[in-house]
Amino acid sequence: AKGSGRRTYRFFEPEMQVRAQKRHDLEMEIRSALARQEFEVYYQPFVDIKTKTVLGAEALVRWRHPERGLISPADFIPIAEETGLIDQLGSWVLKTACHAAANWPERVRLAVNVSPVQFKGHTLALNVAAALGSSGLPANRLELEITEAVLIRDDEEALAILHELRGLGVRIALDDFGTGYSSLRYLQLFPFDKIKIDRCFISNINEPHGASHIVKAVVDIAAARNMTTTAEGVETAAQLDALRRLGCDQMQGYLFSPPQTEEALAHIVASAEHS
Ligand code: C2E
Ligand code: CA
Ligand code: CA
Ligand code: CA
Repeated sequence: AKGSGRRTYRFFEPEMQVRAQKRHDLEMEIRSALARQEFEVYYQPFVDIKTKTVLGAEALVRWRHPERGLISPADFIPIAEETGLIDQLGSWVLKTACHAAANWPERVRLAVNVSPVQFKGHTLALNVAAALGSSGLPANRLELEITEAVLIRDDEEALAILHELRGLGVRIALDDFGTGYSSLRYLQLFPFDKIKIDRCFISNINEPHGASHIVKAVVDIAAARNMTTTAEGVETAAQLDALRRLGCDQMQGYLFSPPQTEEALAHIVASAEHS
């Protein structure tokens, strides 16, 4: 037993060092990417299911790496969260997106993702107020998307911050709904404005043992509590039909549009305005 323990130790040590080194390299790279302004914000519209009117767009960050091309947030947000760089990155996204959205038609809202790591102290509320102030975007056109993870860590502090944000006049959406451990409990903790139903419930909505009854239950709960529902990751017309039948309010997904550059999004919202 002693021998095998030692082998395990020898086997893992270099691997862990490589991982720590990689993480450290990536942290340094993210730092310099912030300084060199290599991050870009894309915008994915969300629309009214019945009328297909564009009601808003969600800001989604990308990293335009000089050698590796466009890098997905899934590959750098976790490291930015672990290293605390998410505060700087998050406030940059917020400010950039608010400035873009201030030029959109009045009915078009902006949604911005906020990491659970940003939920400490008054920094977030100060950053939100500053971004609204400098861009001139009215608070009621900003929607902050938070995940259930925010409430797992420290209910009390997180709730205080949510109320502080609500006090500024911004809307609060619960993102990736249904993927956490106690989703329903969170609906009791805070009066969210919107529930975003995770793509995993949409992708199989038309299958015999799919999630249509779950989506229906969420839509009913939301209606009873005066919350809006948005279906995430809608890819097919059949999914859209099912969602319409179930009474879901809004949809977002490749079926209507993938995330777009600021310019392309401005065209989409402007052409919708005149049609
Ligand atoms: P999310 O907030 O759930 O965003 C939705 C993701 O689904 C986006 O991936 C979007 O491009 C993708 N998506 C949209 N429609 C479809 C569809 O029809 N089919 C499929 N398969 N995917 C679709 P993206 O842009 O790669 O972002 C991934 C995640 O990274 C986001 O998930 C969010 O958690 C995080 N993220 C992105 N930008 C930010 C940011 O500025 N701050 C923070 N904290 N997190 C961010
Ligand atoms: Ca989101
Ligand atoms: Ca989501
Ligand atoms: Ca997601």
